[in-house]
Amino acid sequence: MCGIVGYVGKNNCVRVLIDGLEKLEYRGYDSAGIAYFNDDKINILKESGKLENLKKGLDLSVDSNIGIGHTRWATHGKAKKENSHPHQVGKFTIVHNGIIENYVDIKKDLEKKGYVFNSDTDTEVLCALLDYLYKSDKNVLNVIIKASKIVKGSYAVGILFNDEKDKIYVMKNKSPLIIGVGKDENFIASDVPAILDKTDNYISLEDGDYGVIAKDEIKIYNNKKLRNYDVEKFEFGADLIDKKGYSHYMLKEIHEQPDVFKKTVKDYVNNDLDGLIKNMPDFTKYNKIRIVACGSATHAALVGKQMLEEYGNVKTDVETASEFRYSKPFLSKDELVIVISQSGETADTLEALKLAKENGNDTLGIINAKGSSIARSADMVLYTKAGKEIAVATTKAYSAQVAMLSLIALNLSYKKDLISSDEIKKILASIRTLPSQMQELLNNKDKYKEIAEKLASHNDIFFIGRKVDYALAQEGSLKLKEISYTHSEAYAAGELKHGTISLIEPGTPVISIVTDDYIAPKTISNMIEVKSRGAEVIYITNKTDDLKDGLYDERLIIPRTHKLFSPLLTIIPLQMIAYEVAKIKGCDIDKPKNLAKSVTVE
Ligand code: GLU
Repeated sequence: MCGIVGYVGKNNCVRVLIDGLEKLEYRGYDSAGIAYFNDDKINILKESGKLENLKKGLDLSVDSNIGIGHTRWATHGKAKKENSHPHQVGKFTIVHNGIIENYVDIKKDLEKKGYVFNSDTDTEVLCALLDYLYKSDKNVLNVIIKASKIVKGSYAVGILFNDEKDKIYVMKNKSPLIIGVGKDENFIASDVPAILDKTDNYISLEDGDYGVIAKDEIKIYNNKKLRNYDVEKFEFGADLIDKKGYSHYMLKEIHEQPDVFKKTVKDYVNNDLDGLIKNMPDFTKYNKIRIVACGSATHAALVGKQMLEEYGNVKTDVETASEFRYSKPFLSKDELVIVISQSGETADTLEALKLAKENGNDTLGIINAKGSSIARSADMVLYTKAGKEIAVATTKAYSAQVAMLSLIALNLSYKKDLISSDEIKKILASIRTLPSQMQELLNNKDKYKEIAEKLASHNDIFFIGRKVDYALAQEGSLKLKEISYTHSEAYAAGELKHGTISLIEPGTPVISIVTDDYIAPKTISNMIEVKSRGAEVIYITNKTDDLKDGLYDERLIIPRTHKLFSPLLTIIPLQMIAYEVAKIKGCDIDKPKNLAKSVTVE
């Protein structure tokens, strides 16, 4: 996952590298390092832990105009200094994002040839391979071509070569890499934020690309041929990396959800009974839908399944990408495969997409990042309008995915003539009022804090719900685990009595979500069952009718809206409770331990 940045130009590179790494830290923060030319030598500085550790004692005024930097999410070898990037072997110094799958064999081979390794990483092996290949061919581009034929796996690599003090070499396969284009200066980066305040222009590298970048020249090759490239413009403003006064990006992003919803709806819905949906393909020819995703995107898919089945009347199955890609897919020809990924680079989801395409199925990507690998490979793409998400734990991108799936369900329902114009009117009215209802929930800060104070001292928390509320429970539980390191489990409320209820003790917190009228009485019975066993029940519901005293300890009321959009309201208290618990526990909310955004490893 890790973040790569590189600079060649007229300015002090150390400052540019550190600035860039700060913006990429969401991709990994096990260690950080930089390498730059200084007095004709390559200087390497690295530290384990967060970028802060590297910054301590760093001389930002060093006179160097070319360098590369890295913030690591360890895949091979512990998060210690020796394993940090950049790695150097002979004349090659590299930073790498990805995994060299056959590094063990290559390493054994190189060891036989006399190479000694100082780290446990696959990256150092790649670096040594470059050095070895250079012994018999003194052309770095040829060396890169030869290395890319030997290594298997994913890599975005920035390379400094001792004898060429004005160039950064790159090679890319399956891990993201862009080139930022400036005036008398150029950049490389894993992702847009690293260079957004430096230039608006960039080039996306494709798999198999390699090249060489100087301050006034960019050469990109693929298949031994120089290739033409388009210079694109970033569509985000530099303010996307501003916290706007919020204490954390996560809090800012939670608060952006009403706006994200408005943008999504504006792009896909007309206020018109004769042409309700715009900019969306007709999906009515598919008899089945398979949604494949990872993490929170899977939870968004589980909410979507409920909507697609109920309103779109289409059988929908949800699969975890890392399982799906190694299973017999059993895809039928009339099945649409939807893949969901915020970054559009999620390695397992990308592979699942390839599998569906090889099988001959039509594919649709629900993606947040324009031009990403998944967006480029899927047959159809619907872009969510969440904007850049910096906090590692997703909030606004998740809700944009949920909104998109609800709109697909609405599209199907409308095209299949399954909803009356009266209901469409109700839906349009709900769409209009939803942002202010979301805001109303966001304003409930004190209540979330109060609940979080009760939860923060517990080690095990349960979330229960049925159908859509179960899907929301799963996301609520994941959010809590991710950022507050509190163990929690989400259960289909009806399953509790088949085993898990034995874990309920006096005082065990159970967050019970009840927003679906059809199934509400059943979940309420389950809630009563846990309450009778002493659980501390937090009842999140859109029902205002009085339950008998003592059946819950806290109640949070969700405003009522059309069922298609209700999850977008219910999720807010769940996100906010997780946030407040993490805050009380003093966790690093935007950069939870062991995690990284944009999971580009399998
Ligand atoms: N495989 C490399 C390492 O463990 C790079 C990891 C990454 O891309 O995050 O150092």
